[in-house]
Amino acid sequence: MSIDIVEEIKSLKKQKNVLLLAHNYQDPSVQQLADFTGNSLELSQKTSNVDCDIIVFAGAEFMAETAVILNPDKTVLIPSSAVKCPMAYMLSPEKMNIYKKRYPNASVAVYVNTTSETKSMADVCITSSNATRIISQLENDQILVGPDRNLAWYIQQKTPDKEIIPFPDVGHCYVHRKFTSSDIERQKLKHPEAEILVHPEADPSVQKLADKVCSTSGMIEEARSSKADEFIIATEIGLIDRLRIEFPSKTFLPARQDAICIQQKKITIYNLYLSLLKDQFKIQVPSNIAKRARLAIERMIELSS
Ligand code: SF4
Repeated sequence: MSIDIVEEIKSLKKQKNVLLLAHNYQDPSVQQLADFTGNSLELSQKTSNVDCDIIVFAGAEFMAETAVILNPDKTVLIPSSAVKCPMAYMLSPEKMNIYKKRYPNASVAVYVNTTSETKSMADVCITSSNATRIISQLENDQILVGPDRNLAWYIQQKTPDKEIIPFPDVGHCYVHRKFTSSDIERQKLKHPEAEILVHPEADPSVQKLADKVCSTSGMIEEARSSKADEFIIATEIGLIDRLRIEFPSKTFLPARQDAICIQQKKITIYNLYLSLLKDQFKIQVPSNIAKRARLAIERMIELSS
C-alpha cells in the first residue's frame, strides 16, 4: 500500500502539535512543509515562547540545540542525526580557553555555528545577519570572534572602531569557501546588469566584488526591494530555490552550481516523515551547559532587536 507522504506529514504535524522549522538551505520539498523558513537568527527567534509540544528542526544540529536551550521543556527532534556542520567543531572549548586567557580584556562573540559547549563559554552569540549590530553594541574594544575567519573579516570592515581578533586556525564553511573571484567575474561577464550578492562566509576577495554582502535573509530582502531583475548569488544553492519560488519574475544565477551543503541536504521528506512518526532523533543538551549557553543566545536575541 502506498502512502501520500506529504499528506501524512501534514496530518502527523497536526496530530502531535508540531512546529516545523526549516533553514533556508533545505530542499524546497522540505521548506514547503515548514511552518517557518528562515536563517539561523530567525529560526532561534521563532523557537522562543512557542506554543507547541514538539519542535522538528530541519537544519543543522547546532540550530536544533539552540531550540533545546531556549525550550528546555519541549521535545526537539531533527530528522537526520548526521546534520553536523563541520564549522561548528572548529572552535573547541580548549582553544577558547587559551585565547580568553591571552586576551583577558576582550569580549567573546561566537557564531551560532558552534557547539553548545563553545556557546556556554562566550559572552554573546552572533549570526551573519546580526553580527555587526551586536559587535558595535559591545562595551569592550577588543572582540574575539570565531570560528569563521571570513565573517570576522567582514565584521572588522563594518566596525572599524573595534579590534576584531579572529580565533586562530582558519575556521570556515567549506561550501562558501568554494567561491572564487573568477566565479563572480565569469557570471558578471555573461550578465553585466546583474546585482552581486555574497554571503560573509565567502573569502574577502569575493566579498570585495559584491554589490552587497549579506546573510541569506538579507539576500531575500534585497531581491524584494532592489530594482535589479538579475542577481548573482554566492551562497548555498538551496537559497536560490527559495528565491525563485518567491520572486518568479526575477532571475537568480548561482555563482557556483556545486555550492551544496551535503550535511543540510541529508534531511529529506522521507526522514522527516519518519521523524514525525517515531519521534526521532531527539536532541539533548546537558543542563549545566544549556544554562550558560542560554545567556549568550538570549543576549544575542536582546541585542538584535
Ligand atoms: S552551509 Fe556551511 S556553515 Fe552552513 S551548515 Fe553547511 S557547512 Fe555549516
